[in-house]
Amino acid sequence: MTHPHRLHATAAALSLGAARGRLTRNAEAEAAQIAAEALEAPSVLRSTVYGGRHASGGHSDPTATAYLVADRPFRVNQWQALADDITAHLANLAQHLPAAGRDPLDRIRAAIPAMRPEIAHATTTALVHLDEIARRKLRTGPDRSPLRGVACPHCGERQLMVQTAGPIDAWTVVCATGRLCAGTGCGCGMPGAVEGVAHIWWRADVIGAVAGAAPTHTE
Ligand SMILES: [Zn+2]
Ligand SMILES: [Zn+2]
Repeated sequence: MTHPHRLHATAAALSLGAARGRLTRNAEAEAAQIAAEALEAPSVLRSTVYGGRHASGGHSDPTATAYLVADRPFRVNQWQALADDITAHLANLAQHLPAAGRDPLDRIRAAIPAMRPEIAHATTTALVHLDEIARRKLRTGPDRSPLRGVACPHCGERQLMVQTAGPIDAWTVVCATGRLCAGTGCGCGMPGAVEGVAHIWWRADVIGAVAGAAPTHTE
């Protein structure tokens, strides 16, 4: 099974991946909107903001027209700016990882299974920070849904949440009670249980344990 720090890092990478996807979709829509506005800008300005001057100044004054066009700066695509900023931070995080040239978040995610736990923990912190920035702008919370009817492997309460970003076989489960791991002897079944870390399991393992099946992740 997977060390909890690596599980948290994987979950954070998938969550950020989902948020970046939404930023990109919004950026594309915004780019189309800005392009449309740029085409319309001169006539819109003439007919609204400066409409009252047409009677005296006339449409044919080339100086006035040039001024109107230049005075209308293109709106910044804020979605694209944020997406680019996050990608730059990720590239910085990934600078020592293999496969340079590929998307930095893909490279980070690919490296997580081999990361030392403390590196995975630091990676989680960085990814969660970027994810929170993205989701604040998107006005959306974490991608989570309740895992109904299943008791927490640690505390026994039925308040488990599935973290649903990314592909289903990479989904993880956390306990909404927020009870932290007590480390060795905690009884949570997490390998390499670390005192003070939020409990986390692969979804397939939690469901498999309920069904009496063997854990599916053995790394
Ligand atoms: Zn619990
Ligand atoms: Zn524990």
